[in-house]
Amino acid sequence: MANISVLGLGAMGQALAARFLQQGHSVTLWNRTAGKAGFLVAKGAREISSAADAIASSDVAVICLLDYTASNSVLDSAASVLAGRAVVNLTNGTPAQARATAERLESLGTAYLDGGIMATPPMIGGEHALILYSGSKATFEAHVGTLEALGAATYLGADAGLASLHDLALLSGMYGLFAGFFHATALVGSEGIGASAFLKLLGPWMTAMMGELPGYAEKIDTGRHGVNVASNLAMQTAALENILTATREQGVATDLLDPMLDLFRKRDGAGHGNEDISGVLELIRSRNSAV
Ligand code: NDP
Repeated sequence: MANISVLGLGAMGQALAARFLQQGHSVTLWNRTAGKAGFLVAKGAREISSAADAIASSDVAVICLLDYTASNSVLDSAASVLAGRAVVNLTNGTPAQARATAERLESLGTAYLDGGIMATPPMIGGEHALILYSGSKATFEAHVGTLEALGAATYLGADAGLASLHDLALLSGMYGLFAGFFHATALVGSEGIGASAFLKLLGPWMTAMMGELPGYAEKIDTGRHGVNVASNLAMQTAALENILTATREQGVATDLLDPMLDLFRKRDGAGHGNEDISGVLELIRSRNSAV
């Protein structure tokens, strides 16, 4: 069993600490606002008032704070004890923030593993929880047995920014899915059809459309968007025009789909109408992308 410190006792930090306790680990807690996790103390955790002491008392320190401004300030306050320590930072941030923190901690002699939590607090420890890691491979290998208790642990490489990059990309996919759901639901809602009733049709449809993604992915990877095209961009641009026209006629806002139609029109207008819609990626893969 390991000595683990958990720094940050918000909704997620509490879930992580509870899971470590459930696994029989020795858990030391620190939070900016003391006394937030009496139930964890009742289960055997020790809450202390110094972040530095929490880190110094543990084999591995798991940090889960609101953002990198918070985690950097806590790590700065504990700088004197960081040499030779292992820090796993599960705070959500950008790849650049993760890389900057890794560079700073490595200069202090700290083994740094960055992470991205693909789960909500109630999911921690459950079969669908996934946690992405990148940074110190030695730290991952030394503690993977402990970290696996939180959720499937996937190591993405030595570059500390990779966990965050994948985390944010996965969340982007999620928000795109939610955007489609919200728009579609608003459209049928304009005729008084309820979201739950409509979901019986929308859910299986979205699942079926997931089957298109491997084909798009192959085209994106090869850059060849004109092969095996069953539903070309010109046809889909016309369809999307219809969707937005109908949306306006129904008195519903088009905000969520306007940017998609702009990209379809731009790519179609540049002579790629007979290709697949995967070609739209060429417009966004770089801020300076040409048509
Ligand atoms: P909460 O808002 O519940 O908790 C925030 C935590 O950060 C608290 O412990 C808070 O301390 C602390 N904090 C905020 N600002 C500072 C600061 N300046 N200095 C020190 N501590 C500070 O957030 P969650 O626990 O839900 O989220 C924590 C991290 O986990 C975030 O990065 C989030 O994106 C990520 N995450 C959360 C998920 C979720 O569904 N909740 C899902 C996946 C990732 P205090 O109690 O004193 O205010």
